[in-house]
Amino acid sequence: MNSDEPKTRKRPMLKNDAPTSIMCTLVAIDHTNLCYRVCSACEKTLPDSSDSCRYCSFSNISNPCSSGPKRLFRILMSIATDTKVSVVIMFDRVARVLFGCSADEFFDFAKTHPHAAMTAGRVLEGEMLTVTLSNPSNGNAQHQRVVSIVPLRTGFQPAIETLRELYRIRCVS
Ligand SMILES: [Zn+2]
Repeated sequence: MNSDEPKTRKRPMLKNDAPTSIMCTLVAIDHTNLCYRVCSACEKTLPDSSDSCRYCSFSNISNPCSSGPKRLFRILMSIATDTKVSVVIMFDRVARVLFGCSADEFFDFAKTHPHAAMTAGRVLEGEMLTVTLSNPSNGNAQHQRVVSIVPLRTGFQPAIETLRELYRIRCVS
């Protein structure tokens, strides 16, 4: 047995840079801008106006033989705790937990179901989540970043599954 008392307590009360986990409710998702395009070869961001990558010179032209530019999720979301509402940003890996598919799959789905993005936002509203937030590492970023997300509701299903059910029902009737 080691009877030494711990020398340091490595938990300063008001330190801001360590990731923090909170329980919250999803209030809304900015469904107008869910994803961004990246080069399918090197995954660097592509400018909106162009399909050619200036980092690796890959052309990203859509044709049946190549998949064209890739999309990744980047989503602003409002969350509420018992004390405040804040807007946070989540990137691809985390957003997939809520959406249940890749950004490309979602984009394809939305092509044939024009209101899919808005509906996805609606079906996710009110979900209880545990999110882990980290402060932006660069000074220009204005939103805390979600580094992990855990839906708390038993029976939670990702948005794409709910959407498929919704639209199937609508097509049948
Ligand atoms: Zn590239």
